[in-house]
Amino acid sequence: MEIAADRVVLIHYTLKDDTGTVIDSSSGGEPLAYIQGHGNLIPGLERALEGKAEGHELNVTVSPEDGYGKRDAALVQSVPRRALQGAGDIKKGMQFQARTDEGMRLFTVTAVVGDMVTLDGNHPLADQTLHFDVRIVGVREASGEELEHGHVHGPGGHHH
Ligand code: ZN
Repeated sequence: MEIAADRVVLIHYTLKDDTGTVIDSSSGGEPLAYIQGHGNLIPGLERALEGKAEGHELNVTVSPEDGYGKRDAALVQSVPRRALQGAGDIKKGMQFQARTDEGMRLFTVTAVVGDMVTLDGNHPLADQTLHFDVRIVGVREASGEELEHGHVHGPGGHHH
């Protein structure tokens, strides 16, 4: 079966940056399971996988525009510590979900100086060209329930 919209896809992948350093990999664990055509993957990877069949292996290079975006300096802001009430002891590396004009966004604390906290809403992989080695290990139709939930059930997906 080939990868097409509303089908469940299981892939093993290794993600490397421009220097060949491995950033992430599914090897040694469960494959990644997602539903094609629902924006579950970055656009460049989803597009490259469209129409490919089970058993296929491919190398995909994804530009920042089709990956995690370009770095946006406007997404870096300093806020007083008191604006993050209820977050406990604020430390560098902590992450917060916050509502923005474009929906929910993940912010990372990149500095704490005195009473001021610097938050960065850029994805950690923004501005990076990504290199994926992908092996397609399964393709099947999604169930009605999976399409309703927008995620895969069972191996590699949600268990609930
Ligand atoms: Zn579910």
